[in-house]
Amino acid sequence: MIVKLGSIEAGGTKFVCAVGTESGEIIDWITIPTKTPDETIPEVLAFFQKHEIEAMGIGSFGPIDVKKSSPTYGNILNTPKLPWKNYPFLEKIQEQLQVPTGFTTDVNAAALGEYAYGAAKHTDSCLYITVGTGIGAGAVINGELLEGFSHPEMGHIIIRRHPDDRFEGVCPYHKDCLEGMASGPAIEKRWGKKGIELSERKEVWELEAYYIAQALVQYIMILCPEKIIIGGGVSQQETIFPLVREKVKELLGGYFTQPEVTEQIDDYIVPPGLENNAGIVGGLVLAKMALESK
Ligand code: ADP
Ligand code: ZN
Repeated sequence: MIVKLGSIEAGGTKFVCAVGTESGEIIDWITIPTKTPDETIPEVLAFFQKHEIEAMGIGSFGPIDVKKSSPTYGNILNTPKLPWKNYPFLEKIQEQLQVPTGFTTDVNAAALGEYAYGAAKHTDSCLYITVGTGIGAGAVINGELLEGFSHPEMGHIIIRRHPDDRFEGVCPYHKDCLEGMASGPAIEKRWGKKGIELSERKEVWELEAYYIAQALVQYIMILCPEKIIIGGGVSQQETIFPLVREKVKELLGGYFTQPEVTEQIDDYIVPPGLENNAGIVGGLVLAKMALESK
């Protein structure tokens, strides 16, 4: 008999809910618009109540409380999406579904999905970065998600500004952090057009690669992940991949001699192996982990 698992990928515009198996196959799924918790969560629950799931994995937009010993573990924290601020997400799901439930960020879930079944499936560690409306990254190291007093906020790191770039940055907290300089909204504000309309503008993607590569170099120096996966809307501009790889090599300055960052860099910095399903499949992996640690 197959064990059925649930997965929720909670995003700012939509919730993707899926039921799948322990080997990451999706059996049924639904997309629900993100409105208020009172409107969205009953629809989410109704979908899962049709299935007999044995565990659940949630990958949520953040910031969220992921620290198991915290009194507010499982809550959404200080989000600009006000109806969701302080919402006890994990508690509401568990209360109704009564199954072991894993809870982490959307990018951590995507990293887990890619680690288990995607581009990083033959490695012991990986980092998944999304470059979209925001920038965020999650890492799996020796099969464990990287978390401390909170989940990492790798999109808000400080980067070196390009000498010709006068753009002030869009991050409400730091202005010109990575997310402030290189997210989809930053591209749109700097160049006056959406990323998708700038495909032919070489200088746009060179500057974008200049910032993303700096971030990757810092992640590489600190974590040495065996695979780096770049997802999110902006990564649809495939021209950034070769530009980012070149820039990463240049910034590493020959310090590492390992093949990942030298002759095999084309297989090291890659798009998601699971395409748009990394997060939802990662939720199934999280559910399986919750079931095993029950
Ligand atoms: P979200 O981060 O909200 O979950 P996405 O990952 O799709 O959603 O990111 C949306 C951002 O990516 C927007 O700022 C959008 O302009 C940008 N984007 C989407 N598609 C492309 C594309 N093909 N080329 C460049 N930018 C894109
Ligand atoms: Zn920031």
